[in-house]
Amino acid sequence: MGTESADVSLETLINEDNSEPPGLGSFTIGSASRAFAATYFPNATTAQWNNWQWQIRNSFTSIRSLSRILSLRDEEKWVQLNDSKVPLRITPYYASLLFDKEFDNPLRRSVVPLMDELLTNRGEKADPLNELSHNTTRCIVHRYPDRVLFLGTGFCSTYCRYCTRTHMVSKAEKKHLKISDWHNAIDYIASHQEVRDVLLSGGDPLTMSDSRLKYLLSRLRAIPHVEIIRIGTKVPAVLPQRITPELVNILKQFHPLYISLHITHPDEFTAEMKEACLRLADAGIPLGSQTVLLKGINDTPEVYKKLTHEMLKVRVRPYYLYQCDPIPGSAHFRTPISKGIEIIKSMRGFTSGYAVPQYVVDAPGGGGKIPMLPDYFKGHDEQHNAMLENFEGNLFKYPDYL
Ligand SMILES: *Cc1c(COP(=O)(O)O)cnc(C)c1O
Repeated sequence: MGTESADVSLETLINEDNSEPPGLGSFTIGSASRAFAATYFPNATTAQWNNWQWQIRNSFTSIRSLSRILSLRDEEKWVQLNDSKVPLRITPYYASLLFDKEFDNPLRRSVVPLMDELLTNRGEKADPLNELSHNTTRCIVHRYPDRVLFLGTGFCSTYCRYCTRTHMVSKAEKKHLKISDWHNAIDYIASHQEVRDVLLSGGDPLTMSDSRLKYLLSRLRAIPHVEIIRIGTKVPAVLPQRITPELVNILKQFHPLYISLHITHPDEFTAEMKEACLRLADAGIPLGSQTVLLKGINDTPEVYKKLTHEMLKVRVRPYYLYQCDPIPGSAHFRTPISKGIEIIKSMRGFTSGYAVPQYVVDAPGGGGKIPMLPDYFKGHDEQHNAMLENFEGNLFKYPDYL
């Protein structure tokens, strides 16, 4: 790879490695995808369907192309994508999970735009977390003392309508990150001894080619004070074909490497997606999940609990449940905070502790993630016993007076 100072735009990053083999361990195509591919991509071969670059090249990026596979309602059809904050892109694989589904289908709602997103409501901002002002170099957000967020690309294979990085994924100048931006970010980390944890995100870092990713990971790994590297990605859920044996072999050279998966709904657990998670887990990569709490999509104790149980079955530990950030046009996705607390309370004690994530609100203005917890500590009695409420609502005393 010609690295040092060549300024390469992101489009080149995505498309440069078309010659990569489709992957030795190809995926067994699930039944939903089979039916979809037979109807809408009759000329595609199994090898093409299983090739992640083919998936990206054949993604749905316009309302017109979506209307071929979905009977769109007016409020979906009349979205002006130019005015929308988030671009449209859905992989054929992910489209195959929602193409014959009704309007309210959770996967459809998370990626097919609605006119509601064109309205900016009270309290909503394009960069609610103030990431741009914590942007010390173009790709770095340094908010916490010992770790940084490295926004390595503005590209995703599928865009979530509630994306918190609307300031990034929608902006042409951010999409076209250059190699020099990466080098500035790497220099920043190298010159900040306190940074022991680098969280690679974007955009979706796993949409980069194997060679780009390997280059970036080796540069980060070469910094002595960087102890752990994390990757944040939705790829296993929206483009599981990307998790090739070749990619996994690269990733496992950079341990300790952690991956946070963005998983939204139990319907995302197809055979392909589970296989992708297991390949990563088998490579010794600890997997966590980050889920955004979304109205009508995963905001009931039943759906959310099922989601976490599906995760644990493929060795993904629920890490964070996020309150939806107040990006412009997000009102139809947002629930009250009390809903998230209710969900956590419905799980603690009733199911495996491993299934219960930390529920957090990322404070608007850049305050960082703040945990929201049910209140089990009810103060002290006159003898200074701590009054504790258990999961069933019974009160217990702990002698808190040593
Ligand atoms: C979420 C986040 C991190 C990582 O936070 P953890 O609680 O360590 O997972 C780091 N930097 C920024 C800016 C973040 O938003």
